[in-house]
Amino acid sequence: MTPSFKGNKQHLPSKPCAVCGRDMTWRKAWAKNWDSVLYCSEACRQRKHEAPERRAA
Ligand SMILES: [Zn+2]
Repeated sequence: MTPSFKGNKQHLPSKPCAVCGRDMTWRKAWAKNWDSVLYCSEACRQRKHEAPERRAA
């Protein structure tokens, strides 16, 4: 019963993963640190440590 809820199921915020760019939809687990969530998964979070330049050569 939220007045601002207009029947839109896609009401959760989302943002792209900093590594793979895939849209991450807000999760309850991220409620406390959504602002600091940058990666869609643990795998991406670890990939950030790999310097992209390393594979260029
Ligand atoms: Zn990702």
